[in-house]
Amino acid sequence: MSSTPRRVFNFSPGPAALPEPVLRQAADEMLDWRGSGMSVMEMSHRGKHFTQIFEQTEADLRRLLDVPADYHVLFMQGGAIAENAIVPMNMLRGRASADYIDTGAWSQRSIEEARRYGQVNVAASSAATAYDRVPPRSEWRLDPNAAYVHICSNETIGGVEYHDIPDVGEVPLISDVSSTLLSRPLDVKRFGLLYGGAQKNIGPSGLTLVIVRKDLVGQALPCTPQAFDYAVVAEHGSMFNTPPTYSIYIAGLVFQWLLAQGGLSVMETRNRAKAELLYGFIDSTPFYRSPVQPAFRSWMNVPFKLADDRLDAAFLKGADERGLVQLKGHRIVGGMRASIYNAMPLEGVQALVNYMGEFAQQHG
Ligand SMILES: *Cc1c(COP(=O)(O)O)cnc(C)c1O
Repeated sequence: MSSTPRRVFNFSPGPAALPEPVLRQAADEMLDWRGSGMSVMEMSHRGKHFTQIFEQTEADLRRLLDVPADYHVLFMQGGAIAENAIVPMNMLRGRASADYIDTGAWSQRSIEEARRYGQVNVAASSAATAYDRVPPRSEWRLDPNAAYVHICSNETIGGVEYHDIPDVGEVPLISDVSSTLLSRPLDVKRFGLLYGGAQKNIGPSGLTLVIVRKDLVGQALPCTPQAFDYAVVAEHGSMFNTPPTYSIYIAGLVFQWLLAQGGLSVMETRNRAKAELLYGFIDSTPFYRSPVQPAFRSWMNVPFKLADDRLDAAFLKGADERGLVQLKGHRIVGGMRASIYNAMPLEGVQALVNYMGEFAQQHG
């Protein structure tokens, strides 16, 4: 174990790369968390050590995102896919329907699941242009009586991101932020609820974050399991059931790392630079192509295609040999996808661009 570990540049969409200092700290604290004589994995979630970890983690998240005091921060389980059901169960609040915006694979999953609990109005869709954009706000047919408007801030598979928060008036705006939360500052008070699985940009899998305005909770459908009723979860400080303690601890280390980097505005500058480098290169050569309109290109997930898809396998093999891994695109989009979350350094994106250039020269 004394040799230096081999670390690749991991472009996985999730579970995804974590900051190396976080992994090192977790390794150092594995057997004995700060004099407790225990691993965090072995602690009672109600004991004093974990209580300290939990309170610090919530406080750091609130500080990073500047979460207003009238919002709950909930640590849940089941991922965004469970939230696709939990959201309508909790947020229909006696109303008949909710508005959903369809921007691709993940919003479709949200729509399908919500239909099991209420009436769903697909108020806008970019299906007609093969999900290459967010449909313009002027084309959304919103229902003023809808319980909420649901969007997916960043389509992890299609690589389409909202770069501005849409104005939906008084109706609560809800967003699946699984693959974009903490990548830059976000005006939380523009939303009624934000949710996301941690395993993309926040920490390990097993943890789901929910940030919800307090006045919106407390009217869940009677069929809602108590563990998924936001009011119950909030009342028990996210400990109605045993929370995913180790995932919370690692997420907490990530929050401290983010604060030490200078917070989310620093991440915004870095993430913008990474995205500009990669898209700039893609646009500079006909050998590669982005399927997404420039104004809606994701900073976190960058799908791209080779002009000749018969070269895909050779591209992936060469990348793997250089320690540039997990670049294969999702099967429903094809081609490649580079996920470049907070933990991906600029050097990783530069190494990818260098390889893409050499590959294009060899095969162009
Ligand atoms: C990954 C992802 C999901 C699914 O998350 P699970 O944790 O598997 O439930 C849903 N929505 C978006 C936007 C995602 O990126």
